Amino acid sequence: MGGTFDPIHNGHLFVAEAARIAMQLDRVLFIPNGHPPHKLEASISSAQDRFAMVELAIADNHRFTCDDTEMKRGGKSYAVDTLAELSLRMPSAAIYYIMGVDALSEILTWKEPQRVMTLASFVAVTRPGYDVEVDLECLPESFPESFRNSLSILDLTEVGLDISSTTIRNRIAAGEPVRYLAPDRVIEYIEQHRLYLLQNQ
Ligand code: ATP
Ligand code: MG
Repeated sequence: MGGTFDPIHNGHLFVAEAARIAMQLDRVLFIPNGHPPHKLEASISSAQDRFAMVELAIADNHRFTCDDTEMKRGGKSYAVDTLAELSLRMPSAAIYYIMGVDALSEILTWKEPQRVMTLASFVAVTRPGYDVEVDLECLPESFPESFRNSLSILDLTEVGLDISSTTIRNRIAAGEPVRYLAPDRVIEYIEQHRLYLLQNQ
């Protein structure tokens, strides 16, 4: 599961665990972007802070690991490079890319989307505010058949955890509570390091 994780929150954790169980995955790797190509660099917390928060958030789940593949690689973080690196490192592993449907609808704007689609299977999870049916209707025209076959949609609308990192950052900047939106240890880290106090994102 790739992401900016600025910060990681309970939406990410719930989705990862639900996808792990639904797809019978051995492990979930959380891979924080080093330099996300789609986001404005200046407004993002350091890779070190984002990585540390992921580590704190997943510490009590032995099937979750934090992976520094993207942070270690210089330059912008592209999923195609990460997936190629992971499949070299774990040649016998079946790799599933877990994402929200908001990310799924952007996949065609990624670097080498066709190659990305051959390097992993995909699990797209519903996300409040993003209409999965609309997204799926778009798929037949824009996505190759091989991709549609390797795509699983995980419907979590029943739970509908409408949490985003943007909301958490904005609430902190506005002095509003965020407890229970992310693990306590993550919130303590945010407070200790005085993250997100300025509303610039
Ligand atoms: P931001 O508001 O900064 O964009 P975010 O909450 O969207 O943060 P990201 O790090 O951008 O988090 O997302 C990482 C991945 O997690 C993406 O694939 C995104 O779709 C997914 N995701 C994040 N929050 C949720 C959620 N509440 N439900 C389902 N998927 C989610
Ligand atoms: Mg996002």
